[in-house]
Amino acid sequence: MASRTKARARSKSKSKPKPARRPAPRIAVREARPAKAKAADRDLLARLAKGAVVCAEGYLFELERRGYLQAGAFVPEVLFEHPEVVEQLHMDFVHAGSDVTEALTYYVHREKLRVIGREKDLVPMNRAALGIAKAVARKTGTLFAGDLCNTNIYDPADKASHKEVERIFAEQVGWAEEAGVDFFVAETFSWAAEAVLALEAIRKHSKAPAVITMAMHREDVTREGLSPAEACRRIEQAGADVVGLNCHRGPATIMPMMREIRAAVKCHVAALPVPYRTTPGEPSFMSLTDPCSNGARAFPVGLDPFVCTRQEIFDFGREAYGLGIHYLGVCCGAGPHHIRALAESLGRKPPASRYTVDMSRHAFFGSNARIRKIQTDYQSKL
Ligand SMILES: [Zn+2]
Repeated sequence: MASRTKARARSKSKSKPKPARRPAPRIAVREARPAKAKAADRDLLARLAKGAVVCAEGYLFELERRGYLQAGAFVPEVLFEHPEVVEQLHMDFVHAGSDVTEALTYYVHREKLRVIGREKDLVPMNRAALGIAKAVARKTGTLFAGDLCNTNIYDPADKASHKEVERIFAEQVGWAEEAGVDFFVAETFSWAAEAVLALEAIRKHSKAPAVITMAMHREDVTREGLSPAEACRRIEQAGADVVGLNCHRGPATIMPMMREIRAAVKCHVAALPVPYRTTPGEPSFMSLTDPCSNGARAFPVGLDPFVCTRQEIFDFGREAYGLGIHYLGVCCGAGPHHIRALAESLGRKPPASRYTVDMSRHAFFGSNARIRKIQTDYQSKL
């Protein structure tokens, strides 16, 4: 680990950014994050011991909204077609306060590429995702994370599926390890046993820390029938550094489970809900139905009326951190404005906070001395 850290520190100093051409850069990423990050800055566990780590997720949904990815398959072919768009999205999330640049290898595994008939692109697509994320991470001083996810073929009764799942995880861990990730995320599992297979692959092929998160559907138990707290306890015992939940549930229906998980484990805990207004009756974003569309299922492209406000994400961040949950993020549906709200809930001012709302300057609602009475008198008619 030590020699790798030194090698990284050397490559860091070589890629020192050139001075900005203009005296007042529009995007202050470089100002806010020192170009020469200390070695300890890339140590996830040291950072979690000191405070919160913010991790933006939800790349697939945001790229779908921007018109670069098809909902349904949710495979990021954009990595080949428009790598600059992926890079910009990473930059947008860092600008908004993410401490982590996570490689977009979610659903770039062998099984998912078979579904879309692109298995031959497996290796270059993983390397493309890792390369883009690494470049952004090193440029911005953020943590560089590899990513594994649900394979969709795990079946507890089918031993052959376990072998294939192990192969999928082992090869993705290998490419991420080659790229020099600072830690691994393995996420969105609904079988705890599949999450443990991901953890075992990480432990077998890497010394980097592992963040393992389950995703809870409508039921209050994993698909093998474990409570999320029990599932996380077992994953911790299997050697995970951070355990918790991501995706599927919004803040309102993830938090009761997060409290139980925080009480059940000793290690660091992760909470990355989707930014949607889920309810006890419809606790997951896949279960939400829209009364304005004759009760149709809103997932995945009709979720807009359920999007959480920035304030709701701010409140989530404050509550979760108050419980001692240090690894925080927002998953599918998150935009940079949500990540900024989360960062601000932790008392931070990421570069994007320069543009946080200030209604004192508003044409009608403002308190600025230049806002005329003829405007403020008209407020009640707006
Ligand atoms: Zn998600």
